[in-house]
Amino acid sequence: MSASAPTSSSDPGLTGRPMPALRRPLPDPPEARVGIALVGLGAYALNQIAPNLANTQHARLAAVVSGNAEKAQAVARAYGLEDSHVYSYDDFDRIAEDETVDAVYVILPNAFHRAWTERAFAAGKHVLCEKPMAGTVEDCRAMIAAGEAAGKKLMIAYRAQFDPYNRRAIDLVQGGEIGEPRLIMADHHRLLKLDELRDQWRAQKDLASGGSLYDIGIYSVNGARYLLGEEPTEVTATYLERSDREEVSVEEGVEWQMTFPSGARALCSSGYRADQAKRIHVQGASGELTLDPATDYYERNLTVKTEEGTREITIPDSNQFAAMLDEMALAVKEDREPATPGAEGLRDVEIMQAIYRAAETGDAVAV
Ligand code: NAD
Repeated sequence: MSASAPTSSSDPGLTGRPMPALRRPLPDPPEARVGIALVGLGAYALNQIAPNLANTQHARLAAVVSGNAEKAQAVARAYGLEDSHVYSYDDFDRIAEDETVDAVYVILPNAFHRAWTERAFAAGKHVLCEKPMAGTVEDCRAMIAAGEAAGKKLMIAYRAQFDPYNRRAIDLVQGGEIGEPRLIMADHHRLLKLDELRDQWRAQKDLASGGSLYDIGIYSVNGARYLLGEEPTEVTATYLERSDREEVSVEEGVEWQMTFPSGARALCSSGYRADQAKRIHVQGASGELTLDPATDYYERNLTVKTEEGTREITIPDSNQFAAMLDEMALAVKEDREPATPGAEGLRDVEIMQAIYRAAETGDAVAV
């Protein structure tokens, strides 16, 4: 008996109805999704990115690249990848023949971003690269040039720019909700834990390229730029801590100011000696907006205070990882520039380098 057949004369029977109203369009089927290879299977790749690929509409995990074969195979098995889509750093270049891979996502320590981006372009793949884009302005320019020469997309993985809370904050600030924005205060601090592998490379200049500024201060630099929708023209800066720990060859803390053409200023700090600051506050002529935390993975709080009172804004369904991965996939599918291209990563590196110069010299530095 079929499941829908009435079992008695009073049974109304099962029916098939038309498509209900969907909260999101149906996702692409697996074969139409953009295949992404993860290079580096560290904490961020395995805890945030791999699981969130399953929450996307247009992307899928297509391959893994790792220096640890056992780990790579375990991850491949868990995500249903065949052995032929598991690569080591040494045999990565054969990925050129892997038609299931459209794009390579570089999630390695910062100092490897340029070389792996260039390698991926040489293999004919698009590139999504973690922040900070690279160590130097020259590296960033080389990465952009390599993408152009290959005719492939380059996107920097600025997840906060795809976060619905940060997007709402941009709309509110730029829509005049708090009047003309005058002052941004942005602070990002976390403890650098030298007993954890993921922080050991962060402590070393040759692997991390920079200290707390490159690692988390970048969220304040980028956040001030996207909230105001304008570019800073000058920075001043002071080191909070250069580091007195022998194992640490990067700056631990820095505070800096950025001046914008509108007259708005950003007062920012980053550091490795205090924990849990991920805060961006915008003071406007007639109100204020606070994101605290602003750049956490799963918790964001958005508060707006105006003459009419204080309101908390809650946004359901706000997966910034999936939104960021889908932007990469759509840029590939629609053959267009991604919303956060190489130029966006380059700009932050230019500003962060200027911040270091300002902290070294004590002078204001034009950017
Ligand atoms: P991690 O230490 O957990 O992972 C790094 C991976 O690189 C590991 O699998 C490690 O084996 C591999 N690796 C290869 N060669 C290495 C070497 N010589 N030294 C150290 N590791 C080496 O680090 P992570 O936290 O996953 O960070 C990786 C990248 O992702 C960084 O660029 C970081 O800035 C970025 N990241 C971004 C976010 C974000 O929210 N956008 C969050 C965390 C990390």
